[in-house]
Amino acid sequence: MVTKVAALAETVGVDRQSAEPVISVQSLVHRYEDRTALNGVSFDVRPAELFGLLGPNGSGKTTLFRILSTLMIPTSGRALVMGCDAAQDPSTLRRQIGVVFQAQSIDPKLTAYENLWHQGHLYGLKGSTLKRRVEEILTRVGLADRAKERVETFSGGMQRRIELAKGLLHHPGVLLLDEPTTGLDPGARRDLWQYLQILRDEEHVSVLVTTHLMEEAERCDRLAIMNEGNLVALGTPAELKSEIGGDVILLDAARDADSLAQHIRNRFHVATTVLGNQVRIEQEAGHRFVPDVVEAFPGEIQAISVSKPALEDVFIHRTGHKFWSENPDPDSHVVDKKEKKKRR
Ligand code: ADP
Repeated sequence: MVTKVAALAETVGVDRQSAEPVISVQSLVHRYEDRTALNGVSFDVRPAELFGLLGPNGSGKTTLFRILSTLMIPTSGRALVMGCDAAQDPSTLRRQIGVVFQAQSIDPKLTAYENLWHQGHLYGLKGSTLKRRVEEILTRVGLADRAKERVETFSGGMQRRIELAKGLLHHPGVLLLDEPTTGLDPGARRDLWQYLQILRDEEHVSVLVTTHLMEEAERCDRLAIMNEGNLVALGTPAELKSEIGGDVILLDAARDADSLAQHIRNRFHVATTVLGNQVRIEQEAGHRFVPDVVEAFPGEIQAISVSKPALEDVFIHRTGHKFWSENPDPDSHVVDKKEKKKRR
């Protein structure tokens, strides 16, 4: 089923950019007693958009997610989903959204079919309509042939697909997912993202997904990057990265990265950042800089790489510090050991 807003946009030939937003977050503030978790965040999500909320631990993603899914009322500001105010009209809003929380909500002792059957009842679906819909959605998530098996026998990736199916059963126009790939292996992560892209392209569902993984953020149409309750960047991954300009050079120090960085600064008058055993430099035409630096410090550099700016560079550029997490995911980003030590 095509959602109302997306269908309207298609009918009248409106592109995603100019159509009415499906989610509108307006000056949202949330405080837990004296701790500010959201500090005046505003952004819109457009129809049939795969929108990412990227931020390190503690940046406010879950708080925002809880407000959008009507589990919490903000201290001030507004969150609208398809025109419904999350605080004023939560029951209407809930019918417009499918929600996939981080914590498992499926019953492992029930079959895939039974899990969805019970979910359907919660939304007032029944009889042959519900049966058809359960079969349709199991096919959509590639598990039709496992319908009669208990969910506890499924892999982590398959269980997540059942969670996704539960969220989609009642044809929501908007799907909210909180770090949906937590605990999944790389193959299952890729599969899940492919499903999200298919949902956007074929069913015109708007998807908002929270993540702290850069490679997932790269797959989004647009991103809101959060830091300590503030929105620090908003745009497509390509737009955000293009702001940086130049290349990112990473040098593996043969001995001491701090002294190598110092020598490079003195000799070439460029800014450097030390990340563990590496020295990081942002530089126009990096490929021309590399031979000079290698020649200047023979035996000091073990390996060298030049790359285009990544999303992590956008975060550093906007906040002045690394995308740091208390519980770093080995797949997600480089962790500055020195910085970790300092924060302990
Ligand atoms: P994220 O999902 O990005 O990790 P959260 O929204 O969970 O961020 O947290 C944002 C801030 O709010 C953090 O400083 C966190 O410690 C704080 N926080 C979150 N939940 C609570 C709570 N129930 N009580 C007090 N502080 C909280």
